[in-house]
Amino acid sequence: MNRLAGKVAMVTGAGRGIGAAIALAFAHEGASVALAELDIEIADKTAERIRQETGANVIAIRTDVTQSASVKEAVSQTEAHFGPLDVLVNNAGINVFCDPLTMTDDDWKRCFAVDLDGVWNGCRAVLPGMVGREKGCIVNIASTHSFKIIPGCFPYPVAKHGVIGLTKALGIEYAPKNVRVNAIAPGYIETQLTHDWWNAQHDRQAARQATLDLQPMKRIGQPQEVAMTAVFLASDEAPFINASCITVDGGRSALYHD
Ligand code: NDP
Repeated sequence: MNRLAGKVAMVTGAGRGIGAAIALAFAHEGASVALAELDIEIADKTAERIRQETGANVIAIRTDVTQSASVKEAVSQTEAHFGPLDVLVNNAGINVFCDPLTMTDDDWKRCFAVDLDGVWNGCRAVLPGMVGREKGCIVNIASTHSFKIIPGCFPYPVAKHGVIGLTKALGIEYAPKNVRVNAIAPGYIETQLTHDWWNAQHDRQAARQATLDLQPMKRIGQPQEVAMTAVFLASDEAPFINASCITVDGGRSALYHD
């Protein structure tokens, strides 16, 4: 239970869903954790729940990952509370699923602002410190959309492909400085994002069942199943894993035919 003992971590979009599960798992493993989240009310509640459950040092900081100054400020506040950051998880993300030719310019910008610029803003805010200390780990939450395409889900997969490119580029760039940059590609994971998508379909129950039927394991994943992988990558158990992506999808993306 102490695989991250003494480490300082920041997780973006950690108020709920996968980010909240990662923050909880990190706290369980002994890390001090900052929840960098747009919705400060939900982040405060999640931070309090994690503190009560784990006894760990946990703070919530209002952060908009689309704004580099906001992310830099979150890093400064985290380091003022807990000391130098060891781990950053760039988790905040939004679904923007459109038809390419009817999509608005705003849809395109909104998607890239959070799903790709947001990840870069996080990396840029922590890298100078990590490179200077010659120690650090970044985990970017990508998606199986980072290497597979579903028609009508544009431009989310374009941004998520970019997250893998960014992960590889920065992982190689700073490997000599002992900074590891990796990604996790979740498949279907049961969060608000997934429920919102089911709710937007004509028949919610049928849409949910269709999703489950597509899965080799006949179920979708849980946020804590992504969190366990993030703990592994952030821990000292993965010192030679760099510029890589671990897929957490129950085998779905390896399936050729439904
Ligand atoms: P949720 O929507 O449940 O949680 C995302 C969190 O990020 C929310 O709390 C949201 O806050 C926050 N957020 C959104 N925009 C910003 C921003 N600009 N700055 C800071 N925080 C922000 O999503 P999931 O937990 O499902 O997804 C987490 C990550 O996992 C995303 O990157 C997503 O693309 C990826 N992913 C998810 C999959 C799934 O099946 N769920 C599958 C593959 C990848 P608010 O509520 O205020 O919007």
